[in-house]
Amino acid sequence: MFETVIGLEVHVQLNTKTKLFCACPTSFAAHQNTNTCPTCLALPGALPVVNKEAAIKAMRFGYAIDADVQEVSHFDRKSYFYPDSPSAYQITQFSNAIVQNGAVMIDLDDGSKKRIGVTQAHLEADAGKNMHEGSLSKVDLNRAGTPLLEIVSEPDMRSADEAVAYLKKLHSTVRYLDISDANMQEGSFRCDVNVSIRPKGQEAFGTRVEIKNINSFKFVAAAIAYEVQRQTEAYEDGVYENEVYQETRLWDVEAGETRSMRGKEEAADYRYFPDPDLRPLVVTQEMIDEAKQMPELPDAKVKRYTEELGLKAYDAQVITADKEMASYFEEMLAQGANAKTAVTWLTSELLGRLNKAGFSIEDSPIDAKTLGVLVAKISDDTISGKGGKEILDYMMENESRDVEALIDELGLAQVSDDGAILAIIDDILAANPEKVEEFKGGKEKLFGFFVGQTMKASKGTANPAKVNELLKQRLS
Ligand code: ADP
Ligand code: ZN
Ligand code: MG
Repeated sequence: MFETVIGLEVHVQLNTKTKLFCACPTSFAAHQNTNTCPTCLALPGALPVVNKEAAIKAMRFGYAIDADVQEVSHFDRKSYFYPDSPSAYQITQFSNAIVQNGAVMIDLDDGSKKRIGVTQAHLEADAGKNMHEGSLSKVDLNRAGTPLLEIVSEPDMRSADEAVAYLKKLHSTVRYLDISDANMQEGSFRCDVNVSIRPKGQEAFGTRVEIKNINSFKFVAAAIAYEVQRQTEAYEDGVYENEVYQETRLWDVEAGETRSMRGKEEAADYRYFPDPDLRPLVVTQEMIDEAKQMPELPDAKVKRYTEELGLKAYDAQVITADKEMASYFEEMLAQGANAKTAVTWLTSELLGRLNKAGFSIEDSPIDAKTLGVLVAKISDDTISGKGGKEILDYMMENESRDVEALIDELGLAQVSDDGAILAIIDDILAANPEKVEEFKGGKEKLFGFFVGQTMKASKGTANPAKVNELLKQRLS
């Protein structure tokens, strides 16, 4: 029996206005190499200056994961030659990162929590992009010098599920903190996965391989599963030493397998040394104060939703996992919707319809305010749940968002008035004297018949709970 050991290195592109060491914009540019200057083109004599906004965003992440945020940190040069890096080195933080010793709590399937250590999170500059077109290769340096926060975990994860839970937690945390758009398709949240196995009970770690640049949670899980199987088979076949060695692999999406890319570089291969062009990064009190201004994070929201709103832990997690979902939910509550009812209408009724129509919560055609009003109308018995669904269906197809007008237009106002419902009940009972006798003689199944008849006579507008209550009264 083997145990899987996983450590992750996540690259998050910080959403600063300008690059890490120059004033070039990080925004989209229509043409190649236009968002550039002597510094990010690495022309001789140009000097880098650290971007304060990037430092503050890194610090904010540090405070959010309870890390030690360093008052003084340093930048180093990591040497490698590649056409998309004109300086032939990357500026990064190797020996003294701005964020050290943090932790992220993940929720496991059995309801328990697990602490995943974060060794460090450091600032570094992204490279440009090589583009291969036919027989030509082009270099675009618009992205060169864009700030990245590389978040390095301890080898604390023991399964693909734990790795994905950790990634999702990081993803939602950086989005809540608004330090990155963390768009995985566009590469602003990408991850290197380190995987090894060891016989259960053995203390020493096995040999790890690193799988580079995976940009979806699904591929992370698939790559880990593939690698664990490959390493396990090598072990069982007695060829572990030959086939599992420290190397960089890539995940081939088409083939569904990891493939060797290159031998793993040792730190010495990069010839790290302190960047002589940059002074130490010294944070000021003003930067600390700004970094500590942060929104309510997912864990705190879960606590508040469960303790104050009475939600189930599972529901609270589903809603807080996504920043947009949480703010949608809170906007519903502001319209007077009951919390538990709001959860049901948001997670099953609305999301079900959105999924079918191919929308996400961000581009939902029904806004939070409208759904909040609708749910409030259900909670106060103005309309039934069935009526609510009818209005939702109608809104998915039509423009109107005026809930009150639609209740009238579609004739969905629910009758909760005792007198009106009793009048219908009395008619039904008077029309079915034999059934009333049978019921009183012990045939309790007939209760459903009376409810059905009353609802039918009211054309579905009677409040079912009221019908039940009043029928019980009349028949007892
Ligand atoms: P390097 O300096 O070569 O990048 P690190 O020691 O910094 O190596 O580790 C890089 C990543 O690999 C970290 O996320 C760490 O948790 C993970 N890691 C280290 N050893 C193992 C191992 N035996 N199995 C799985 N992951 C590991
Ligand atoms: Zn520049
Ligand atoms: Mg490392």
